[in-house]
Amino acid sequence: MAADIIPVANPLAQFAAHEAEIRNAIDRVLKSGWYILGSEVKLFEQEFAAFQGSDFCVSTASGTDAIVVALLASGIKPGDEVITVSHSAVATVAAIEQIGAIPVFSDIDPSTRCLDPRNIAPLVSPKTRAIIPVHIYGQPAPMPEIIAIAAEFALLVIEDCAQAHGAEIDGRKVGTFGDAAAFSFYPTKNLGAIGDGGAVVTSDEKIAANCRYLRQYGWKERYISFFPGVNSRLDELQASILRVKLPSLPANNARRREIARKYCAAIDRTGIVPPPLIANTLHAMHLFVVECANRDNLQQFLTDHGIATARHFPMPIHEQPAYKGRIRGADALPATETLYERIISLPMYPELTDSQVDKVCTTLKSFDSCRIS
Ligand SMILES: *Cc1c(COP(=O)(O)O)cnc(C)c1O
Repeated sequence: MAADIIPVANPLAQFAAHEAEIRNAIDRVLKSGWYILGSEVKLFEQEFAAFQGSDFCVSTASGTDAIVVALLASGIKPGDEVITVSHSAVATVAAIEQIGAIPVFSDIDPSTRCLDPRNIAPLVSPKTRAIIPVHIYGQPAPMPEIIAIAAEFALLVIEDCAQAHGAEIDGRKVGTFGDAAAFSFYPTKNLGAIGDGGAVVTSDEKIAANCRYLRQYGWKERYISFFPGVNSRLDELQASILRVKLPSLPANNARRREIARKYCAAIDRTGIVPPPLIANTLHAMHLFVVECANRDNLQQFLTDHGIATARHFPMPIHEQPAYKGRIRGADALPATETLYERIISLPMYPELTDSQVDKVCTTLKSFDSCRIS
């Protein structure tokens, strides 16, 4: 990528912002001689649980694994159905299928782009055991409504928080509403490692204990497996790096929201539709995803002006070859399908400079959405 192109995400800029501290942390771990499940992981888990306002955090090797471990720890079994959305990263569905459970797709509510609580009840079958709402792009899903429906049908709720570190509903962090929540620390996420990482957060003591056993072969005592588990551990290097970055997460999210406000003002009269910003919720602004009837024109226009864009989810999960034609609910997702044809992600990361933000805003203002190519 040419140096003067403004990228959509920039993990290198985040490393640069913390370089000395990260190098110190890595050095500390290297010299400790302890590289797996040591003091850095333990301290990170305590610090992230405290940040969340949850009782427990159990780290894993990735966000996908965090969903897998959370589902297993909650007692979801092969053949159980889990209601989720097709408008997500494939990881959400891959994790459900990895444990032999069966994903079922609900449509989204266009006003949140998240799971539409009104669509859950009609999908519930005798096999339904859990719901995985996804706080997509950092926008909180309507958790109070989802929890109420889950309670009515005695379903577990596992929140997919991979894009929503620090997002809130009425001052309460997402990831604290359901029975458990899964986070990813993939490098470009709001809290990103320099490699893979993930975590389950919960205030349920039993689920937390199960997660701890399951992430390491089901060991309850050293080398003795009490359950069939997996190997999914965050390593000490990644934990030490996450500990360096965690204190900056609130300020970084605030910066993301500041950039979002500027973008929103810039597109006010362009026909480009901003992401929904819902009263009483704090958006983590992981991605700034706009809707545009002439999406391809907009993408070309921004490219021509040195601004990178992305189609993070170029295809809904239910239309991808691996899943097409075999997931229940996939035939009734009109809102999901409409959204996919219109969305595009603009540059969004806290280290964007004011002049870069100004350049994006000026360019957006000059976009004529009625232009037909
Ligand atoms: C990134 C992501 C995941 C998976 O996280 P990994 O750490 O990449 O395994 C799961 N769900 C959503 C919505 C994501 O964006």
